[in-house]
Amino acid sequence: MMKDQPRKEGPYFDGTMSYLCYQEYLQSDEWKYKRDMMIRLRNYECELCHRSPSDLHVHHKTYENVCNERVRDLMVVCRKCHEHLHSKR
Ligand SMILES: [Zn+2]
Ligand SMILES: [Zn+2]
Repeated sequence: MMKDQPRKEGPYFDGTMSYLCYQEYLQSDEWKYKRDMMIRLRNYECELCHRSPSDLHVHHKTYENVCNERVRDLMVVCRKCHEHLHSKR
C-alpha cells in the first residue's frame, strides 16, 4: 500500500488526510531530525529578531511540501515571532 501523499491544500489544512499526516509527522523522529538540522543551519538564531532563545521553533512558510520540506520552506523562529507569524492571517 502506498502512503497517502499530502496535497496542495492552501496555506492552512482543510483536508483531513494531510492534517492527520501533519500531526503525526510533527511527532516523528524524521521531523525532529529536520528541525534540529534547520536550527543548526541558522546558527541557533531566530530569523526574524536574531535572538537565540533556548526554545526555537521551526515554522513552515508553506505547507505545500509538508513531510518533504526543503530548506526554503522552513523558517527558524523564536516562540514570540512564531506566535506573531500565526496570529496574522
Ligand atoms: Zn524572534
Ligand atoms: Zn509555524
